[in-house]
Amino acid sequence: MSDNEILKVKDLSILYKTDLETVYAVNHVSFTLNKGQTLGLVGETGAGKTTTALGIMSLLPKRTARVTSGEILFEGQDLLKMSEKELLGIRGQKISMIFQDPMTALNPVLTVGDQIGETVRLHNTKNLSREEIEKKVEDTLELVGIPKERKNEYPYQFSGGMRQRVVIAMALICDPRMLIADEPTTALDVTIQAQVLSMICDLQRKYGTSMIMITHDLGVVAETCDTVGVVYAGEIVEYGQLADIFAGEDHHPYTEGLFGSIPNLKTKARRLQPIEGLMPDPTVPVEGCRFAPRCKYATDQCRSKKPPLWEKDGHQIRCHFAGIRKEAKHE
Ligand code: SF4
Repeated sequence: MSDNEILKVKDLSILYKTDLETVYAVNHVSFTLNKGQTLGLVGETGAGKTTTALGIMSLLPKRTARVTSGEILFEGQDLLKMSEKELLGIRGQKISMIFQDPMTALNPVLTVGDQIGETVRLHNTKNLSREEIEKKVEDTLELVGIPKERKNEYPYQFSGGMRQRVVIAMALICDPRMLIADEPTTALDVTIQAQVLSMICDLQRKYGTSMIMITHDLGVVAETCDTVGVVYAGEIVEYGQLADIFAGEDHHPYTEGLFGSIPNLKTKARRLQPIEGLMPDPTVPVEGCRFAPRCKYATDQCRSKKPPLWEKDGHQIRCHFAGIRKEAKHE
């Protein structure tokens, strides 16, 4: 790992195995997060984004989930090789996660102050006194825009947006070096989504925290990310700098489909162009390209042979025809 990298995920594969079936959730995923930057993982629900995040946090369900290949290097150390005790010193303290739904992330019978302070009490490496922890809780509440006097209230006394601010305070109180935000605004009203998102980004910039932003929303990616991985059926099908994804010439057909399915006032198209079909069944191993059943450019080669990874100046696309001009390649 170079000095400006904080996280490097290499060839990560995760499956869920039950008595009835095996679900291939994440398939040979690789990406890098630089210090102080934001990496976006964008794709449909069920594409494997959250499983990747839970793998990094070592929060996968132990009974069913298996990591079958790869490395997760955080500050040079492989998280997959760490003991549960070593992981306790990382999770919540050096790497924190903001979960999607604040109602399920918060305990309804504990005050928000108790819940925010719990992470510090658990990790208390600086041996803070009770009063010092209380002060840290109050400061963190104010940091996320909640008056400190509200620390003794319960989650039901807060609106959805304020509850998500509490969850963000829980994630930030130990000054983590890396934050994973898993669809942090999806469960909120549209009117407060932008507010919460801009608060997360302001705090991230202020403290230089590195962040993985998991989302299905290209608008969120455009506003928050430096690097983007487009995830489809457990694979990263396109990866590059924000400009590569939003302004580059070459794209994976799935990325093209994502852009075609959002409103664009500049084009004359009166209707949105949905990506027809569904993601492939994750219980069935795929020989060729996973996107082939939905791809308008698919050939026999696509259906039978796994596409290679094309790369130019760090911009990667997994497609047999990447890098060849569209008009020529698909005639
Ligand atoms: Fe489409 Fe073939 Fe490329 Fe897959 S490899 S995205 S099917 S053109």
